[in-house]
Amino acid sequence: MAGEPQADCLFCKIVSGDVPATVVRETETVVAFRDINPQAPTHILVIPRVHHPDAASLAAAEPGIAADLLREAGEIAAAEKIDGSGYRIVFNTGSGAGQTVFHAHAHLLGGRGLQWPPG
Ligand code: C5P
Repeated sequence: MAGEPQADCLFCKIVSGDVPATVVRETETVVAFRDINPQAPTHILVIPRVHHPDAASLAAAEPGIAADLLREAGEIAAAEKIDGSGYRIVFNTGSGAGQTVFHAHAHLLGGRGLQWPPG
């Protein structure tokens, strides 16, 4: 069923605590942890506890949780002190765009200059 934990999903296992992660923030609906392969001085993944394969399907099914995720990303950016210099929130969607984990997640990137357009 949509939103239910998936046995083969890495991020569901991080939510349940079965796979370790460096968690920086947890709420009733969202978990945030440091990316294991950081692409910037601050690189944090913000994920919903519920399982949806990508950001658009999360927003369609549970818009309140999608909003929680964005709000928390902004609050974490302030807590990490990257809000002054600017930061980026990225949702890779589909393997052609670099998505490798099919549980919705926002990449929060900052702490260095960020180029536009992204690669
Ligand atoms: O957008 P994409 O699906 O590629 O993002 C998945 C991210 O999950 C990667 O940046 C990868 O480094 C990260 N990851 C992690 N901890 C794991 C496995 C993957 O932070 N145990």
